[in-house]
Amino acid sequence: MTLFGDTQHLDVDLAVIGAGLAGTGLAASLRHHGFDGTILLLEAGRGPGGRAATRRRRDDLVWRLDHGAPCFSFSQPPQGLLAELWNPLLEQGIVQPDLGLVVGLSEAGCLVDPPVHPLLQGPRFRGVPTMASVPEAFLRLAGCKTQAAFGERISSLRRENGWWCFSGQRRARSLVVTGNLLAHPRSLAMLGWPDVPLRSAVPLNVDPLLDAALAQIREMDASVRWNLMLELPHCSDHLPRQIWLTSDAQESFGIERIVLHRQHDQRLGLVVHGLDDGSPITPASQPGLLLEQESRQLQLLKELLRPWPVLAQALPQARSLGVMRWGASQPLDYPLPTFLQWCEHSSVGFCGDWIAGPGFGMAEGALQSAVDLAAQLV
Ligand SMILES: Cc1cc2nc3c(=O)[nH]c(=O)nc-3n(C[C@H](O)[C@H](O)[C@H](O)COP(=O)(O)OP(=O)(O)OC[C@H]3O[C@@H](n4cnc5c(N)ncnc54)[C@H](O)[C@@H]3O)c2cc1C
Repeated sequence: MTLFGDTQHLDVDLAVIGAGLAGTGLAASLRHHGFDGTILLLEAGRGPGGRAATRRRRDDLVWRLDHGAPCFSFSQPPQGLLAELWNPLLEQGIVQPDLGLVVGLSEAGCLVDPPVHPLLQGPRFRGVPTMASVPEAFLRLAGCKTQAAFGERISSLRRENGWWCFSGQRRARSLVVTGNLLAHPRSLAMLGWPDVPLRSAVPLNVDPLLDAALAQIREMDASVRWNLMLELPHCSDHLPRQIWLTSDAQESFGIERIVLHRQHDQRLGLVVHGLDDGSPITPASQPGLLLEQESRQLQLLKELLRPWPVLAQALPQARSLGVMRWGASQPLDYPLPTFLQWCEHSSVGFCGDWIAGPGFGMAEGALQSAVDLAAQLV
């Protein structure tokens, strides 16, 4: 277990499951509002960031690849509480406006305007030097009374005598869940869990707000992304940052966009954002699906990169770094209403990009939900 801060508490005031933008942003925002309690972040991944994490490599210590979200998209310049959290990062150079070129690619392989998409409509920012810089900065702002335990996937929840209980005799007065895996029935098939963990922990009719939240979450749709990661040799051309396929092209190729991430030494990281094809994912089917996606996307790249001869020529020397499955990431319908973000009676709250609001499904929504919940909790 990795710890932030200099103390290890067995009992904490707040446990937060997930150290993505929402979880780390919540911890930072709570401190900003003067919350003095102890916080424990429990995260399945190896570091902070979630879908805005940065991939590192053991065999190449300078390599950094933003293999999920390549930027932080907002529908409008951050306002109010969100600005209070975000603007200091801008002032300190931890984020900067993303001025990278975004182009569109048609089904016929022609360069066109990018499609109209909420992720491209408002201001965009990049983490400096990488996307993970932002959740890392939030953890620093969360201070020494915040601990983060990485590599810890929570698969069951227990509530006893007013405490949320975890392995290792750790307990928390309150709990916040950032991803909705612990509250959504999809976890049952995907992870082989016997019941929705939050439902097992708090039976029906104990907390009407939680019942309403779980009923709403059950209705949510979700999508999966298959992101192929490649290392390409040094390519000197002025290249776009994001190549978005038009909606016809997305449908025909099953790919949303291609993102280029230049490395310090001028090598290129390339990430293909593959779309959900509806294949049922189980622990048994996943390894085969990852291989299928890798060979499918590698094959398609030959066609898709034709407008950039320098990239097309570099492709035979590309090294595949495998495919990352972004788990059921973007609920498409029925976002959770903000009034259900905090269920007082069972001391459980929700935040993440799946809470209703203008930034739904994007970085803005994750952060907005975090600052909104923080304001409720203090
Ligand atoms: C491929 C892709 C491209 C994207 N592009 C953009 C973009 O261009 N612009 C933009 O603004 N947004 C984009 N997004 C969306 C953006 O990444 C998310 O909105 C944002 O990162 C969500 O943050 P979050 O904290 O709500 O969720 P997450 O980042 O998913 O964080 C939840 C965390 O909880 C952890 N967790 C979940 N369950 C458990 C458990 N049981 N035990 C322990 N840990 C658990 C997960 O490991 C994860 O780290 C993209 C997302 C993807 C996947």
